[in-house]
Amino acid sequence: MTGQTVVVAIDGPAGSGKSSVSRAIARRRSYGYLDTGAAYRAMAWLGISRGINPDDPDQVESLCASFSYRQETDPEHFRAWVAQTDVTAAIRTPEVSGRVSAYSAVPRVRAELIARFRALIAAETRDGIVVEGRDITTVVAPDATVRVLLTASPEARARRRAGQRGDAEVARVAAALAARDAKDSSVTSFLTAAPGVTVLDTSDLNFEQSVTALDALIEQTIRSTEEIA
Ligand code: C5P
Repeated sequence: MTGQTVVVAIDGPAGSGKSSVSRAIARRRSYGYLDTGAAYRAMAWLGISRGINPDDPDQVESLCASFSYRQETDPEHFRAWVAQTDVTAAIRTPEVSGRVSAYSAVPRVRAELIARFRALIAAETRDGIVVEGRDITTVVAPDATVRVLLTASPEARARRRAGQRGDAEVARVAAALAARDAKDSSVTSFLTAAPGVTVLDTSDLNFEQSVTALDALIEQTIRSTEEIA
């Protein structure tokens, strides 16, 4: 690829393998990696710690205006900071996972973060960047070189998240994922593919197979784009 930065847009629900697969692809291709969910989580983390009511426009305005956020786009070293505080671990707690949808549903929050994501994509200096989230293929980067919806059945997603823990934990995780999907679906449509977006169902694929399938799709799309150009 010459000149143009390759933008790989990946959407999908929690537990689809989106984050780990996206990061592996970025490593393999020496691309940048932008986890947009991390920024929504960091916004929620700050909102929770300040006691911000996401339904109060004035409070949301001051939250957005003072959101001093930085995120590493090197796929080898993911870290996130709010001002001087490293929030890499803090944004993954069940409390943040349970409350992030209330913040991400606020239009002012979305507008703020979407503008920042676009600026990060435009500033990418590597050959490409993998951007993953819920509305990347449709809103953040609809002109991306490659647009993919990564899906997996609810059972497969819950099993991945619950790991080796027993059936009761799988059921608990499945319920939490379903609740978050339902809240997020009212704002972003990441369960069905928009026109021009390729669906990759990983229900029956392991991690390596998912990475290989996505990498092949990217390679094929880049080649056909070059042929047209
Ligand atoms: O991807 P992850 O599960 O970390 O995303 C956390 C939350 O951030 C989602 O549940 C959703 O509310 C929000 N999000 C979003 N749009 C994106 C990425 C994430 O609304 N592009």
